[in-house]
Amino acid sequence: MAVDTSKVLISKTQIEEMLDRVASRINKDYADKDLVVVGILTGAYIFTADLTRRLNISMDVDFMQVSSYVGTESTGDLKIKKDLSVDVAGRDVLIVEDIVDTGRTMALLMDVISKRGAKSVKLCSAFDKPDRRVNDLVPDYTGIVIPDEFVVGYGLDLDGQYRNFEDVRIVR
Ligand code: 5GP
Ligand code: MG
Repeated sequence: MAVDTSKVLISKTQIEEMLDRVASRINKDYADKDLVVVGILTGAYIFTADLTRRLNISMDVDFMQVSSYVGTESTGDLKIKKDLSVDVAGRDVLIVEDIVDTGRTMALLMDVISKRGAKSVKLCSAFDKPDRRVNDLVPDYTGIVIPDEFVVGYGLDLDGQYRNFEDVRIVR
């Protein structure tokens, strides 16, 4: 049976309002900082582009591709598929993620970047599913909180598909 993606959860207009709101906070908070935006591939490619073009402060933009896997320990390990090109030591890192679910991946990544000597490490996530959290991670900048549903669109995929939707839809 084909996947049903007809149920829109977040409209394009709501996403645009979210972008303006989050960008204005970041513009204020990072005005005097040495910002490195770290976009997380692949899901956050659209959010990173839309957010950074609303920022009017100086910054570097770089990307990482990471995933977490749970082995013997419940905290899991981080697998880095693509690493940064810039050195983050002494700089103010803002990780830009598509969605925080259990929180495992971002908790591990924030720890890795801290250990590389970043001056500060903060997290900005377009979407957040706090109901699924297994740790105490709270994004520093949260776009839109959503219920415990699997969503696609605005960069988020199902087996590589549907990233191009301009809104966010529930998969049924
Ligand atoms: P976690 O927070 O559990 O470590 O992992 C979050 C990652 O799982 C996200 O970066 C994303 O790749 C994926 N993910 C979590 N929830 C969803 C969802 O509702 N839709 C899609 N497409 N990916 C999700
Ligand atoms: Mg992801």
